[in-house]
Amino acid sequence: MSNTNGTEVRNTIIVGSGPAGLTAAIYTARGNLDPLVIEGYQAGGQLMLTTEVENFPGFKDGIMGPDLMQEFRAQAERFGAEFITKNVTKVDLDGDIKKVWVDDEEYQAKTVIVSTGASANLLGLENESRLMGRGVSTCATCDGFFFRDKPICVVGGGDSAMEEATFLTRFASKVYIIHRRQGLRASKIMAERAEANPKIEFILDTVVEDVLGEEIVEGVKLKNVQTGEVSELKVDGVFVAIGHTPNTKLFNGSIETDDSGYILTSTDRNNRSATNIPGVFACGDVQDSHYRQAITAAGSGCTAALDAEHYLEEHGAN
Ligand code: NAP
Repeated sequence: MSNTNGTEVRNTIIVGSGPAGLTAAIYTARGNLDPLVIEGYQAGGQLMLTTEVENFPGFKDGIMGPDLMQEFRAQAERFGAEFITKNVTKVDLDGDIKKVWVDDEEYQAKTVIVSTGASANLLGLENESRLMGRGVSTCATCDGFFFRDKPICVVGGGDSAMEEATFLTRFASKVYIIHRRQGLRASKIMAERAEANPKIEFILDTVVEDVLGEEIVEGVKLKNVQTGEVSELKVDGVFVAIGHTPNTKLFNGSIETDDSGYILTSTDRNNRSATNIPGVFACGDVQDSHYRQAITAAGSGCTAALDAEHYLEEHGAN
């Protein structure tokens, strides 16, 4: 179908290409909805930054994150999903025909599935970025294995920091949790578990001022915010666990989010991925601050595809 100015109006455009977006692509492609996936320059989502994935069902010996995403993508392509490897630059989601721009190119569709994911927050230190992947990590489950019998630190005081620190004690000789204030944000049960672990030591009221090391991480420079005392701590790994930011900037407030920016989806059991805008659905980490697993993202991608399909049945698919 084309509109009056000749632009093709598609059934669905999927923005983002992690497990959620690609599962939505597989389902909508198999449903003959000819999805267009605007996958982004950094296609594949957070699993592209991981190594071995051992908890994705169906791969009993584990699979590398990028290989898993390649399988997802190939499966969607096999059923006819089309891909653009660029970032969406602007959207207009009002009305029955949604408009999505990639630079000057305009694409139109009756439904849009948002699966732009979330990105790990960083401390913002120059050496943190420089040594990313060389001792600095945002994913304990991905990189913990590399720190067998080595001292490491986890930055943050939330549930993620507690969980990652506890997990990392399987490998590391010692895990320091560095938190910027005295009180933890983590839930009592997670905090208590970390506190009871003999390999974990808390360094509170303390911020990381720098990550030290030329080629690989050799330590961190710390500052006690109460006393102003500056010190160095020798560690081989720095795991930054200070939360995630959902990638919703693009939507400029047009889609309803919670206070942290995560897209709010419907509580209607039969239309769970619906956003506040009719015809716009959300799935994956962009709407899930809690579970954040590849498999839960994939499941929600399926939900979004089925919800979009039902919407199109009611509003006339092409
Ligand atoms: P979070 O709850 O937002 O905690 C972030 C932590 O990082 C806070 O302690 C915060 O300090 C600290 N922080 C933030 N910015 C910082 C900065 N620039 N420098 C130093 N420290 C900084 O994030 P999260 O731990 O990732 O958890 C997110 C959500 O997922 C939560 O709802 C959590 O309960 C959930 N979650 C649940 C589980 C589980 O139940 N198994 C596991 C992981 C996560 P302040 O406290 O001072 O703000």
